[in-house]
Parts: sequence; structure tokens; C-alpha cells
Amino acid sequence: MGSERSYWNPELETRPWEQVLSHQLACAAELIRDLPARSALYRSKLAGLSPVDGPISAGQLNALPLTTKDELRLGQENQAPGQPLGLQQAVDLQRIVQFVSSSGTTGRPVYFGLTRADLETWVDGVANTFFTAGIRPDDVVAHLVSLPMVAGGLSYADGFRRIGAALAWVGGLPPERMLASIRAVQATAILSTTSFALYLTDNCWRLAGCAASELGVRKVLGGGESGLGQPEIRDRIVKGWRTHHVRETMGLGDVLSSMWSECDDASGMHFNAQAHVLVELINSVTLESVPWQEGATGEAVYTTLGREATPLLRFRSFDHLLVTGTSCPCGRTSPKVRCFGRTDDMLIYKGMNVFPTAIRDVVMSSFREAVEPNLRIWKDAQDQVRFNTAIPMDVEARADLAAERYMAVARGIGEAIRAQLQVRAEVTVLPPGSIPRTEYKTPLVYVRNQ
Ligand SMILES: [Zn+2]
Repeated sequence: MGSERSYWNPELETRPWEQVLSHQLACAAELIRDLPARSALYRSKLAGLSPVDGPISAGQLNALPLTTKDELRLGQENQAPGQPLGLQQAVDLQRIVQFVSSSGTTGRPVYFGLTRADLETWVDGVANTFFTAGIRPDDVVAHLVSLPMVAGGLSYADGFRRIGAALAWVGGLPPERMLASIRAVQATAILSTTSFALYLTDNCWRLAGCAASELGVRKVLGGGESGLGQPEIRDRIVKGWRTHHVRETMGLGDVLSSMWSECDDASGMHFNAQAHVLVELINSVTLESVPWQEGATGEAVYTTLGREATPLLRFRSFDHLLVTGTSCPCGRTSPKVRCFGRTDDMLIYKGMNVFPTAIRDVVMSSFREAVEPNLRIWKDAQDQVRFNTAIPMDVEARADLAAERYMAVARGIGEAIRAQLQVRAEVTVLPPGSIPRTEYKTPLVYVRNQ
């Protein structure tokens, strides 16, 4: 089919990024003018700021206050009747058509709302993202997330159908039945968290009596957590499903549930929500703006441009990004990134900062023949960041690793982590199957006695 489209939104996706930004800044200026009248949260946050007149510059935007999840959580603590979304609810309840909940992996869930117009922008943004990841109308997509109310639930289902693909929402079924359904509907694509895709890859024989590669799936979309940027993890999925069409995706329930995804170049995730969300990169310590340049790192901060129910100005994601490129053979102009961790996952060992994903990178780059990519770093309390003694950590042996080698492998991993990251870890190798996998996000850091 020669007429097949290449982009979901050709006009915005191929426009020079500077022009996209100016267009977005004009929309942001409008938002800032309206916000105090619409939202009690922003009435107090923006009090005392001189009114915005006309368009704003990137520098002016960078000077405005940031919004955090804790503020949103606090804003929902004492809801008034008709205001279930708390201080940030910016429309009457009767205009809201859908509630979305954050996953609650980092505390009590926060709820968001969508009006009919918000829902439309979400579905368009999600469709744009999955289209970039290669989903097409002739695909049959098995959607493996089981929780309709989280961002990766109903809104993903809507996005697949908007593209015109056939949706098979098998999330929530026992894994055996998921796999049986994938075969029954002749699914060509699956969407799941990265850790669950890996779980299915490794357990397909036991669950379905065949290798994952025999199920006929040609496209694997993973996200919801970092992982697919890790070459060894990606490689296991590529080999397990025998397809090179493995694409990482990422979004944020608070903002828009899927905003980033890899194109066919698979060299980092493009930003695909230009029409609805402005993204800034900032230094998470100084809070200063960081230019989108290859090799730059920083935290993503989002401003929703047209959101009616729960608009957000400069929302801190705490997601740490590495910019992997600003131009691409696919023709898209948006920056490409990898997410290598969340600021609130960062650990400090005697003054050295280390991300759990960096520890996993070390383990996987040198010990993938011996251990699984699942690790469990132990903290004594949820808010523990600093370690003055070796960081306790479990890794899981591969089935073919002899038990008498566990100690030596543990020692080797500890030495590699120390050499490469200047961090001491107290590593324990556990038998296969010891570290639980979930169908949704699988954390790398656990709290003892919780
Ligand atoms: Zn591209």
C-alpha cells in the first residue's frame, strides 16, 4: 500500500522543534492567564505574579513555580462535595467523564479527571505514541495491563482502537489464559510492562506449552518502567519473541498516559504529545532549564496545554532522562530520550549518587549468563536514601547456574559494582523464582518489614 501514512500528525511531528516550542509557548501563555480563575491550587501558587500579557518565552516559563505530586496529593486530602479532585479540580463535576488514578507505587494514589475534550486529547496523544511505535490498523493488539483505572489501562485501549487496530484486552486474566487468548485472536502485537513481557518470555513454555516466538506476535511494546533501554533486557525479548520490532514507550498518568515512544530507528523514545503537552528538561537540583542536546541529562517537567479538568503547570515527573538524539532518520523532529530512573529512586552511598538502574546495568552487562535481570535492593524505610554500609541487594540465579557457584557470582557482582560505580553492595544470589514479578510495574527497590 503506497498510500500508507508515515506519521500520526505529520504537520507537528516534522515541524522544526523550535517552531513547535513557540507554538506551545503561545498555548502555555493562555493557560497561565486562565489558571488562577479556574483552579484553587494555582490561585494560591500563582498569587503575586504579574499577569502574563501576550506570548511568553522559554525563560519566563522556566521562572514559574513547579508543581509536585505531593501538592496534588495534599490538594485531595480534604475534598469538598462535588470536588473529588480537590484543589486542582478546574471544572464542575458534571463535565468530567472519566477518572484516572496514579498507580500508587510511590504513595497514596492521586486521582485525575478528564472532560470530554480532555479524553479526546488523551486518545489522540496515546494513538500518536503507539502509531510511532509501529502499531497499524491491521494489527491485533493484546493489551496486557489489568487495571482499567490506571493511566495504562482504559486510555491505552482507547488509543489502540483510535488507530484502528483490533483490541484484545486480556490483562487481568491468569497468564496461561492471556497466552491462550493471544493465540486465539492471532494477536500481532502485545503491550505490557517491560518486566511482565520478560516474565512471559521466560515462562511461555510452562504457561502455554510453546516458545513465545511460536505465538505469532511480531511487535512487542513495553513501558511503564525503565528496562527496554537496557540492551541485555531488550535482547532477551528480541530473542524470546523472535522479533526486532521491540519498542519502548513512556507516559505519565498525571499528564498524558503515553507521550514517548521509539520509532523504527529504536534509538530512544521520541516525544509524541506535542499537540497537547509542553515538555521541559531541567536540572533537578538547580531547577534551571537544560537544552535538548544529545548527551544532555535532566528531569522532564510537563505543562498540559489544553487540559480542562486537572490542568498542570510545570509538573515535576522526577523521571531522569538522557537525550539520545535531536534528529532522526524517521523525520520526526522531537528529541529522543532514554529514561534511566526516578530522582526519588536515587540512592546515596557515602556521598556517591547511584540509580538502581545503573546497578542493574552493571549486573546485566557482565553477569547475564549467570543471573536474571530482576534485582531487589533493600531499604530499611521508605524514605531511606543514604547508605553508610554496603547496600543490601538480592539477585536471582538463572536456572542453569549451579548452587555452589552462587557465592562466587555474588562476590563477583559486588566487585564489579564497586569498580564501576564506586558503591559497595552486599549481594546475595537467590535460587530461580525467588524475586516476585507482577503484571504491572516491578520495582527494583523494596522496603524491609513493610
Ligand atoms: Zn525517529
